[in-house]
Amino acid sequence: MAWETVEWACGHTGKIQLYGPQRQRDSRIASEAGRKCFACWLVEKWEQEGDPRATKPDRYRLAAAIAENKNIRIFNLPEDAPASDSREALRAERDKLLARLAEIDAELGKDQKKPDEPASRKTAAVFADIRDGKAFLCITSKTSDLLCPAAMREGSDSAYDIEREIPADGNPEIVRSLIAEMEKESGLKLEPSQTLREMGI
Ligand SMILES: [Zn+2]
Repeated sequence: MAWETVEWACGHTGKIQLYGPQRQRDSRIASEAGRKCFACWLVEKWEQEGDPRATKPDRYRLAAAIAENKNIRIFNLPEDAPASDSREALRAERDKLLARLAEIDAELGKDQKKPDEPASRKTAAVFADIRDGKAFLCITSKTSDLLCPAAMREGSDSAYDIEREIPADGNPEIVRSLIAEMEKESGLKLEPSQTLREMGI
């Protein structure tokens, strides 16, 4: 029985207790030199299996203690090694990327809502109502296709009291901007009546 010195492929050195004739011991030493040490092998196994010991800073010392019980002494193992190349580090990186992705999604979502109001906005018709010689833009819940004088009368009495007086010199440009104001105020999507459309609105 003898303690033989070994240098493993991972760069760690140590001693292993061997029995038997020298020739057998020499071949065992040669085969050990071609592989990583027991501690490196065990830590890697812990990492692959998600064993909590894989992320402990003193994992090499834990592995060395187990090696000692198998008559393997490993000398130059790291004392404390942060789990930088382990699954833990990959998980942290993944969490960081997912958080960034959520931020980007939120940012894109904001931009999508801004230029276009929700498509589910209720549609109503806007039409010109003449009262006392003045023209007013009024809103009716009747759609523009159904607009007839009766619908218009109903419209002017309807629940939407948002209206705008069309100035005497009102051109289509002005009327359109008044309608845009009324849309903003009512939250409705306003379709111009047949008459307004014929006026180029
Ligand atoms: Zn090693």
